[in-house]
Amino acid sequence: MANESMSDPILDLARPEVLALQPYASARALADSAGILLNANESPWAPDGDEGQQLNRYPDPQPPELRRRLAERYDVPEARLLITRGSDEGIDLLIRAFCRADQDPVIVCPPCFGMYALSARIQGAPVKAVPLIDDGAQWRLDEDGLRAALPARLVFLCSPNNPTGNEISSATVESLCRSILGQGLVVVDEAYIEFSEAESMSRLIDRHPNLVILRTLSKAYALAGCRLGSLIADTRVIGLLRRIIAPYPLPTPSVRAGLTALAGPDRLERQLSELAEQKKRLVAGLERLPGIQRLWPGQANFVLIRVADAEALIARAAEAGIRLRNQSAQPGLDNCVRITIGSAEETTRLLDFLESTHAQEPVQ
Ligand SMILES: *Cc1c(COP(=O)(O)O)cnc(C)c1O
Repeated sequence: MANESMSDPILDLARPEVLALQPYASARALADSAGILLNANESPWAPDGDEGQQLNRYPDPQPPELRRRLAERYDVPEARLLITRGSDEGIDLLIRAFCRADQDPVIVCPPCFGMYALSARIQGAPVKAVPLIDDGAQWRLDEDGLRAALPARLVFLCSPNNPTGNEISSATVESLCRSILGQGLVVVDEAYIEFSEAESMSRLIDRHPNLVILRTLSKAYALAGCRLGSLIADTRVIGLLRRIIAPYPLPTPSVRAGLTALAGPDRLERQLSELAEQKKRLVAGLERLPGIQRLWPGQANFVLIRVADAEALIARAAEAGIRLRNQSAQPGLDNCVRITIGSAEETTRLLDFLESTHAQEPVQ
């Protein structure tokens, strides 16, 4: 920690309790794991089916090989990367490190991912909503509204955004970082960036120490079940979050699966191009259906549609064994349904369902 009497545009934003606490020092963090390990009350025996993983041992808090591979894949310095139990944990850590209950507000731009506001509410942090603007074709940030809602400790943006699929320009993010330096951090959630043409904004941290990027292996890397996310930020932010992260957030089997997924880009590239193909088919099919009032294809592995009766469509889809997600509860999204892009076979089943349901009983 830097000398606390000096002003610092990042450390000064942390909750004083977090700066003051003595972090938990785990056995694995205090000593290397060579020799006879009698320092962590573990069992001396590996369980059945261990396959050399040593599941009887606590895992490394930040497994160095996984961290190295992630940093390489995301093209960022290792010191700026914290591996988390999914991005969900990254979101929660940021709020717990920077927001005092009833004092330090968080800005969200709905329609958006629900975890930003939920984690803030659990912490007791005030939540200000600056809804996106539907300009008739696209969703975009309300930049004036955002400025008017400042100051905030954390501003959560998502690009491409869930569930609207729109992207945010790096110029907008940079300008926001500049205007809240010393007052707050800008968090850009890039959970869906692999599906878009856009470049990650993680390089901008060189110029903007109050920018935080979230990445995940849950979507394009097909590892939602492993809970592996990365939080990329200035080393001061990483240091603060390491004070409060759980001692052993990353289960050994998850780490192993993460390493396998990162070993070669081939599988990822193949799956991305297959999903792009299926998205094209789905979008073309939806454009032919008169019951679809609006279609936002977006830049991610899902599309958003508006129909006359979202609940009825979702119920009929469920009867056909297809689960879709109702987004009607979000501001501006009445009767909107989010559809994830699936395999070729799943897309065929979905298109058959949509065409037959429309023929029998038009959705409009
Ligand atoms: C799916 C998703 C994530 C991923 O969360 P994990 O905890 O890493 O699985 C993050 N942000 C958004 C906006 C998402 O839609």
